[in-house]
Amino acid sequence: MKLSGNLEKLGFELRRFKTGTPPRVDGNTIDYGQTEEQKGDTEPNHFSFESNDADYLAVKDQLSCWLTYTNEMTHKLIRANLDRAPMFSGVIEGVGPRYCPSIEDKIVRFADKPRHQLFIEPEGRNTDEYYLQGLSTSMPEEIQQKMVHSIKGLEKAEMMRPGYAIEYDIVSPYQLRPTLETKLISGLYTAGQTNGTSGYEEAAGQGMLAGINAGCHALGKEEIVLKRSDAYIGVMVDDLVTKGTNEPYRLLTSRAEYRLILRHDNADLRLTELGHKLGLISDERYEPLRPRRRLLKLRKDVWKNLESNQTLQLMIFWLLRVMPR
Ligand SMILES: Cc1cc2nc3c(=O)[nH]c(=O)nc-3n(C[C@H](O)[C@H](O)[C@H](O)COP(=O)(O)OP(=O)(O)OC[C@H]3O[C@@H](n4cnc5c(N)ncnc54)[C@H](O)[C@@H]3O)c2cc1C
Repeated sequence: MKLSGNLEKLGFELRRFKTGTPPRVDGNTIDYGQTEEQKGDTEPNHFSFESNDADYLAVKDQLSCWLTYTNEMTHKLIRANLDRAPMFSGVIEGVGPRYCPSIEDKIVRFADKPRHQLFIEPEGRNTDEYYLQGLSTSMPEEIQQKMVHSIKGLEKAEMMRPGYAIEYDIVSPYQLRPTLETKLISGLYTAGQTNGTSGYEEAAGQGMLAGINAGCHALGKEEIVLKRSDAYIGVMVDDLVTKGTNEPYRLLTSRAEYRLILRHDNADLRLTELGHKLGLISDERYEPLRPRRRLLKLRKDVWKNLESNQTLQLMIFWLLRVMPR
């Protein structure tokens, strides 16, 4: 018996979701002059305080993306061939992702829109493949080729790989504890797409939490639960286990009621202590947090004492801005 069948037999409730991906085209065959260049950030931000100058330099030399649009001709082609798209014709019946719908879906649901935006994105420095963000489709290959050729800048683009769609089983996240352990089987943890989410970051976040807790379980240690005010992972897991999901779940900042607290610039203050306690963060990484905490406290105290003097407040504000972190 296959994995899904086995899980069902054990009492897990399964649901069916679907997702897809756009065609890839050869970057050497794109007419960039017909598109709008979208440069990367001039001052890129990093997730970690541990990033160094070399990391900054590496991302400063970024490859551009290019903006183009579908048009009436593309839409006409899609409408004429809707019955040939399994994602749309009902051959694939699962619930699709709301935030990255197929182009077939967009043409039908937003029939009044004369065009849809497409970002042409390089897949990497060592490949000629470009990703057509916004053109996710399950149309037959020859229709996809025609769709691509109907778009400005892509008239002569060579398709390296066609888009496609897939359907998959998920386990109801209601059947999970906030540690990501299944309620039905002690010591069994699930994460990622299996739990009804879609996305690399969603899968990585849950994988980390489930991994930590599976390790704690095996070692007989207390497991961890992240609160909604601790981390976006806390928001996602709480949403999943308390509300379930009827569609592929994506973690959006708008789902967090504490988003002024959940900032990338204070992730270390929120989570390093916990990571250190769990043995996941070394002393060398943990130590620099102490002076940073002291400095932040000092800044807060100074600020509080200056509440009545606005000129001085302004001076201190600028002084603090030029001080190292
Ligand atoms: C076509 C497509 C396009 C997508 N595009 C994007 C995108 O642009 N951006 C984005 O953020 N997300 C995208 N996603 C979603 C994202 O890829 C998934 O949500 C994410 O990769 C799920 O990660 P996961 O670790 O849960 O599962 P997976 O990445 O599927 O990993 C599960 C692993 O388990 C292995 N496995 C399965 N059964 C067994 C078994 N019995 N024994 C041992 N190993 C087993 C599989 O081989 C696989 O390696 C896309 C998904 C698809 C299908």
